[in-house]
Amino acid sequence: MVTAILFDLDNTLYPASADMERNTVRRMNEYAARLLGVGPEEAAAIRRERMPLYGTTLEWLMAEHGFTDSDGYFAYVHPDGEEDSVEFDPGLGPFLDSMAVPKYVFTNAPMEHADRVLAKLGVADRFERVFDVRFCGLKGKPAASAVDKVLAAVGEPAGSTVFLDDVPRYVRGFIDRGGRGLLVDHFGKHRDSGLETIRTIYELPGRLAGEP
Ligand SMILES: [Mg+2]
Repeated sequence: MVTAILFDLDNTLYPASADMERNTVRRMNEYAARLLGVGPEEAAAIRRERMPLYGTTLEWLMAEHGFTDSDGYFAYVHPDGEEDSVEFDPGLGPFLDSMAVPKYVFTNAPMEHADRVLAKLGVADRFERVFDVRFCGLKGKPAASAVDKVLAAVGEPAGSTVFLDDVPRYVRGFIDRGGRGLLVDHFGKHRDSGLETIRTIYELPGRLAGEP
């Protein structure tokens, strides 16, 4: 029996076709470029190589470049109005309501970003709680410490929780701590992930009911 469902936020609660990620990554590269004293394209190349060793771009900058101004970084990467690149989905609220299981958001973004996006999607009141990257001490998914802290706060055994995310290594990080992880892969980008996969979160109830 599933006793809690945890959703990633970006590219999971809304389709990966939104411009949000493109815009966010552009701002991350701009910020990293300024910090490293290189052009945005060079910063993008360095980030592509180094960030996968960490949970987030911020973790990379902190670990390898002695960076400490996390609030300044968040303010630049997640400005007011960023939610304009996500579309309201009128079906999402009723869909979430149709699953009578406590629901949570588990994101590597800061709370101000989660608040804006959930408000834009019109579903902020559908979740028991939002766990952001500050809750995880700025060391986010897929770190075991992040997953364990969130699971402890949810208060359910890992084995009865389900987690959905569009990033394969974040899904694996959750499975490694004993939960059931599903990959949300809107465009079939990760066919070789070996993970249980659904195309959109709207396929979740059927999958939980045992449909293939
Ligand atoms: Mg995501």
